[in-house]
Amino acid sequence: MSAHYPKLFEPLDLGFTQLKNRVLMGSMHTGLEEEKGGFEKLATFYSERAKGGVGLIVTGGISPNVRGRLAPFACQLSYPWQVSKHKKMTAQVQAAGAKICMQILHAGRYSYHPFSVAPSAIKAPITPFKPKAMSERQILNTIKHYARAAKLAKKAGYDGVEIMGSEGYLINQFICSRTNQRDDDWGGSFANRSRFPTEIVKAVRDAVGDDFILIFRLSMLDLVEGGSTLDEVIELGKKVEAAGATIINTGIGWHEARVPTIVTSVPRGAFRWITARLKQELTVPVVATNRINTPEVAEEILANGQADMVSMARPFLADPYFMQKAAEGKSDRINTCIACNQACLDHVFENKRATCLVNPLAAYETELVMTPVVAGAQKKVAIVGAGPAGLSAACFAAERGHDVHLFDKATEIGGQFNFAKQIPGKEEFHETIRYFARRLEDAGVHLHLGEAQTVESLQAQSFDDVVIATGVVPRHLDIEGAELPHVLGYLDVLRDHQPVGERVAIIGAGGIGFDVAEYVTTTESPTLNSEQWHGIWGIDTDYQNRGALLAEPLAEPNPRKVVLMQRKASKVGAGLGKTSGWVHRNTLRQKGVKMLAGVQYERITPTGIEVSIEGKRELIEADTIIVCAGQLPLRELEAPLVAAGVKVHRIGGADVAAELDAKRAIRQGAEIAAVL
Ligand code: FAD
Ligand code: NAP
Ligand code: SF4
Repeated sequence: MSAHYPKLFEPLDLGFTQLKNRVLMGSMHTGLEEEKGGFEKLATFYSERAKGGVGLIVTGGISPNVRGRLAPFACQLSYPWQVSKHKKMTAQVQAAGAKICMQILHAGRYSYHPFSVAPSAIKAPITPFKPKAMSERQILNTIKHYARAAKLAKKAGYDGVEIMGSEGYLINQFICSRTNQRDDDWGGSFANRSRFPTEIVKAVRDAVGDDFILIFRLSMLDLVEGGSTLDEVIELGKKVEAAGATIINTGIGWHEARVPTIVTSVPRGAFRWITARLKQELTVPVVATNRINTPEVAEEILANGQADMVSMARPFLADPYFMQKAAEGKSDRINTCIACNQACLDHVFENKRATCLVNPLAAYETELVMTPVVAGAQKKVAIVGAGPAGLSAACFAAERGHDVHLFDKATEIGGQFNFAKQIPGKEEFHETIRYFARRLEDAGVHLHLGEAQTVESLQAQSFDDVVIATGVVPRHLDIEGAELPHVLGYLDVLRDHQPVGERVAIIGAGGIGFDVAEYVTTTESPTLNSEQWHGIWGIDTDYQNRGALLAEPLAEPNPRKVVLMQRKASKVGAGLGKTSGWVHRNTLRQKGVKMLAGVQYERITPTGIEVSIEGKRELIEADTIIVCAGQLPLRELEAPLVAAGVKVHRIGGADVAAELDAKRAIRQGAEIAAVL
């Protein structure tokens, strides 16, 4: 047990077996499940996390039958021939000291294919396919399929299974009248609606015997109209427990809910209150989940008795050695998940392999490999620019054994992350800078801050390789009035904190335009005030209503009148992240920000900006105009260095500014470091 986080590292006795600590690595689909040879890579992915000290791992969801698959070729476990590929993975994880449970997930109406089934034929708002209502025979068979999958999972060497009963998937669809309008024994009264999950748990327990972990993921907050009441959730928890569940894990919000549950602006540990409430009613261990990303928050939840275990999923993508670092009292060395979703969930929705923005090795453990340099092959490397790209390159290159010098003209590391971290709701970005600062020290990188590099200064130091990571410069506008004093760039606002008037027009509605709009319309970040955040998103912490939704969300105070504009005719914000863009759009809409597409900028006047929309010219009155019109690469060092015969590489914004984000910057830094 660790002296640093005593509750986190307290073993948990389940009777027939023991967990070595209180952390469950939550289920995440990586996409490797469906790739050729993917299970080999998954074995390394999971066993790396097991080595890092997590007690219990839950796999991504595996369907118990064809119709339950999330997508046409999604992973399924129904036949004995499908067992063998799991075996190596379970053995490798167990050899590394962790336990592993397979999640059984039937997607119901969330299945992204035309053969989907559900309790009733009601289409989900997030898929194009209308499901068929299940016949009674199909229901009974599906229960058997869950039991069959669990039995096969036992054969495959798993320590248990997790039955996915939340997030709006099939089981959840049976539980709520929103999606269950049957009038037979499986619909109508709550007793009937809760029969499907209870029968599944019973059937699974019968199939696997007593010495097998059975986790039930219970939707404690549905956050949709027609969701469960608190009494129903408690009753179901008790039924599931009586039917044979060993652990009750928590589900928060259906996928179709219009309340954010895991994005970065959700306060840390925001939903612990509901686990605390359920824990009073149940006897089996209860797991708290969502936006728990540091050992401190996890320990606090356990120490306050709000849960018996905590689930963290994305934090283990960001840092496989989270638990080991916590045990050693080195939580400042943890690569913290910033809950951006950019490389994990967004990838899953784009049918790409999940990885991590702050840890590009995640799920690429066997492909992006950092081999130590052989003796005598060490190089003296300059990395110019300590933004995300340069930081990543410097750490990996030094860890491989190179002699690395990292330069930045600024007096602090982080590059543009220093502006991102100031945006209300993006407080987590501080953590990435803190993490890199520690890692630079540990890797022995020579850090030179406040030193702008020139061709001469670099040449004078005789580097073997120079990596240009100098980032970008904001694009300036070339229209009449652009030089007027009330026209600011985003750096004037975020870096230099120049005063902003009460009426603001923002030119450019990309990621930065949205962030600047958030910045100028927020007085106090709701992310740092959980009570306010719950009110704004209409979450009823008294749980008086079905789905735990308030009749009316609270209005967030907004000190300014803001217009956000783009030239494209497409929906404003369409280019933002798949799983987070809607949150940004809703937040600004709630604050009355006007979003205009198809705008032609004519000229800026002392009283505002003249624009044409659909051929109609109008003046948008504004005291301040903020330009967020994209960026251009900054790489004037490159050509003269190349001409002087220096070996030069470029990464991040200095390479390509268009569609740049920190995900690419950090990944490119790692990729160049791997081959230096
Ligand atoms: P930069 O971060 O620009 O770093 C370049 C560094 O080089 C700077 O520190 C600069 O001082 C230094 N430098 C330049 N010239 C020299 C020289 N001659 N000598 C020495 N040093 C030099 N991305 C996301 O993925 N997700 C987000 O949510 C997100 N939010 C953002 C919010 C805001 C408000 C902003 C401004 C950006 C955001 N970004 C986000 C973008 C992200 O920060 C950038 O994509 C990323 O920082 C680019 O990394 P980089 O290392 O290439 O460049
Ligand atoms: P961006 O997303 O490319 O947006 C640039 C905006 O400027 C667009 O609205 C564009 O729309 C407009 N624009 C481009 N050229 C223009 C011109 N000549 N005149 C007027 N308007 C012009 O870039 P960004 O907002 O600067 O962000 C930089 C990068 O940081 C982004 O690529 C993004 O990935 C990343 N970032 C991400 C997040 C996030 O939450 N994930 C947040 C912030 C930043 P029109 O051409 O239609 O006018
Ligand atoms: Fe966390 Fe972002 Fe990495 Fe996903 S991509 S694990 S949200 S830091």
